[in-house]
Amino acid sequence: MTKDYNIVITGVGGQGVLLVSDILALAALEESSENRVRTSQLKGMSQRSASVIVHLRFGPTVDSPLVTKGSVDALLSLELSEGLRYLEYLNEDSLAIINTEVNIPPVTFQGRSVEVNRSLCYGCGNCLAYCQVNYYFKGNNDFLVLNSPASSVISGKCVIQDSCTGCGQCFSACPRSAKILLEKNAYPEINQIAEILKKITKNVFMISAIDLAKDLGNPRVTNILLLGILLGTERVPLSVATVESCISKRVPTNLLDINLKAFKKGIEKGREILAENF
Ligand code: SF4
Ligand code: SF4
Repeated sequence: MTKDYNIVITGVGGQGVLLVSDILALAALEESSENRVRTSQLKGMSQRSASVIVHLRFGPTVDSPLVTKGSVDALLSLELSEGLRYLEYLNEDSLAIINTEVNIPPVTFQGRSVEVNRSLCYGCGNCLAYCQVNYYFKGNNDFLVLNSPASSVISGKCVIQDSCTGCGQCFSACPRSAKILLEKNAYPEINQIAEILKKITKNVFMISAIDLAKDLGNPRVTNILLLGILLGTERVPLSVATVESCISKRVPTNLLDINLKAFKKGIEKGREILAENF
């Protein structure tokens, strides 16, 4: 392998994002002694079903663990809206595999938005850096890709923009606890999210992986099934045999059989995608 490879894996707490990234990182190490492997995990309030994102880079010249925006080779999202949250990492050649399962973090699922208590806010701007919203759903398939957070400081006070989804990720950054939750908000539909992503890359595949996992009798193996789909597309420079061996090393023995079945089923699905699209 001569080129460095960048993957972003995302989902919400409890979906097994970290297990998938761990298996891929181990596989990258075992695939070639020339591979340098770096990962960075952001799991925050993952135990409360909040966002989890892992950057994984491997190859002969990798230094930083962070994938820069627009440079991802593959985005694997275990949850629908999380795939959208990180669209800024995609470029026109990126592969995006998105599980259509909706598993919205509680603060957002409750349909809330945010208001700033102006008597508390003193405009420090700390919260802006924590906002990860980078699209604005205007309805009727009308979208705006943003390069700025969903709040800004105007005349010394934080002002919330319409693009705020009420995710709450900026709250912990406020030294005055000036941000509070309100009611609002609907979420985009599956086809609307696909439309947004396809404006950046045509290689977007929305897959109901959780239903495929349910067919196997255990929806909790959705993560490994998606890993199989990724490998089946042959767009990742890792062999199926190496990844399968790493699954065996990382998954508890009593769950290995069902996970290997899920991986195999995912490979089949990924090969269908390969045959039809590449
Ligand atoms: S609550 Fe709104 S402003 Fe704060 S991080 Fe989430 S989308 Fe951005
Ligand atoms: S809401 Fe809080 S963190 Fe944001 S600008 Fe105001 S005081 Fe600073």
